[in-house]
Amino acid sequence: MKKTPSSQESSQEALFDAEAIRKQFPILSQQAHGYPLVYLDNAATTQKPESVIEAVNGYYREQNANVHRASHYLSARSTRAFEMAREQVQQFLNASSSDEIIWTRGATEAINLVANSWGRANLQAGDEVLLTCLEHHANIVPWQLVAEATGAVIKVVDIRPDGELCMDSFTRQLSDKTRIVCVTHASNAIGTITPVAEIITAAHESGALVLVDGAQMVAHQAVDVQRLGCDFYVFSGHKVFGPTGIGVLYGRKALLEAMPPWQAGGEMIEQVSFSGTRFNTLPFKFEAGTPNVTGVIGMAAALDFLQSLNMPDLAEYELSLRQKAEAGLRAIPGIRLIGQASEKVSVVSFICDTLHNQDIGLLLDQQGIAVRTGHHCTMPLMERLNLSGTVRASLSVYNTEEDVDRFLSAMRLLVTSED
Ligand code: PLP
Repeated sequence: MKKTPSSQESSQEALFDAEAIRKQFPILSQQAHGYPLVYLDNAATTQKPESVIEAVNGYYREQNANVHRASHYLSARSTRAFEMAREQVQQFLNASSSDEIIWTRGATEAINLVANSWGRANLQAGDEVLLTCLEHHANIVPWQLVAEATGAVIKVVDIRPDGELCMDSFTRQLSDKTRIVCVTHASNAIGTITPVAEIITAAHESGALVLVDGAQMVAHQAVDVQRLGCDFYVFSGHKVFGPTGIGVLYGRKALLEAMPPWQAGGEMIEQVSFSGTRFNTLPFKFEAGTPNVTGVIGMAAALDFLQSLNMPDLAEYELSLRQKAEAGLRAIPGIRLIGQASEKVSVVSFICDTLHNQDIGLLLDQQGIAVRTGHHCTMPLMERLNLSGTVRASLSVYNTEEDVDRFLSAMRLLVTSED
C-alpha cells in the first residue's frame, strides 16, 4: 500500500531515531552565544560520536605504540588494530583486497598521491585530464600542477543551470586523448550527486581511468567500489564522523602495483642501501613515515558508528530534512536556491537578494546556528554560476526537524527585518 506522507513521516521517525543518535554527540548539547547549538556545517566537517572520542582516548590510554616496527606487546596490539581498521575500510567500500586501501591524511592527500604518482608516471604532453565544473579545489589543483609538469591538458565538463552535470558536455569532452576522468561523487557546494557509474562505463570504453572524489558521499550513501568499477576512490575521515588528518585512497590493485612510490621513508621501504632501495609491497609502498595511528583507530570507530545505522533509512531521513529546509527557504521572498539537481546529498545552498552571504552567516551564528558562507573551495563552480559564493546549510544524521525549524525561522526574521 502506498504510504501517505504522514504515515511515511512517522515510520521514518520510528526507523530513524535522530534524537537518540544526536545524544551520542556530546558537542551538540552545548549552547552557542546563549542559544542551543544548531550545527549545519557538516559538509565542512562532521561532529564525532562518543564512541570515536572514546576510541581515540582509549588508544592513548591503553594501546599507544608505533605500528609494524617492534615485537613488543603494545606494538602488536596497536598494529593489529591498525590493520583491522584497514580491513574494515575494505569492507566499507567493498574493495576486493585490503592491499587496495592506502591511509592518507585525507581526500586531498589521496588525490595528490594519484596525481603525483600515477600522473607523473603516465601523463605525457597532449594527454587530457577531464575534470568537472563541480570539483573542489582539491580535485583541480593537483591535476593542474601535474599538467604543468607533464604537458598534459585539463578539460572541464560543464554543468546545467540546475547544477546537474551536463552529460552531453562529458560525452563531447571525452576522447581517446583522455587518460583520466576525475569527478566528485557529490558536490560539497551545491549537493549534486553525479552519475559516476555512467561516467566510469563511458570512460573505460574510451580507455580512460576514473578517480572518484567521495569526500561528500560516504557519510550519506553506501559506496561499492567494485560495483562502480572506479579505478580510484578517495574520502576523508573527518567528514564521516572520524578524526581529522586521516583519509583513504582506494586504488585497483594492478594500478597501485604499477605506480611508483610518491613520498619516501619509513614503512614504504623494504631494504635500503646506498646502491639502491627496494620498496615495500602494497599497501605500505604508499605509506611513508609514522602513520596517523589514532586517526585510523578513530576512523574504525566512526565506520562502526555509520555501519550501525541503516544507510537507506539515513538517506531518506536526510532527504526529508533537506526537502523541509528547501521548501522553507523557497517560501522566503528574495531567497534563491542554488543547485537543484534531481539527485543531491543533504546540502542546501542559497543566496539572498537583500543580504550578503557573510552577513547571513554572522547573523545566524549570533543565534547559535552554524552555516558556511563563501566559495566553499569551488571557485570555478562559483564563477560558472556567476556568483561570488553562497550560504550553505549542510545536514547530517544528528540534525533534527527542530534544527531546520530554528534555521528557517531565523532566516525569515533576518530577511523580513531587512525590508
Ligand atoms: N573533495 C570534496 C568534495 C570536499 O568537499 C573536500 C573538503 O571539503 C575535499 C575534497 C578535501 O577534503 P580534505 O580537506 O578532508 O582533504
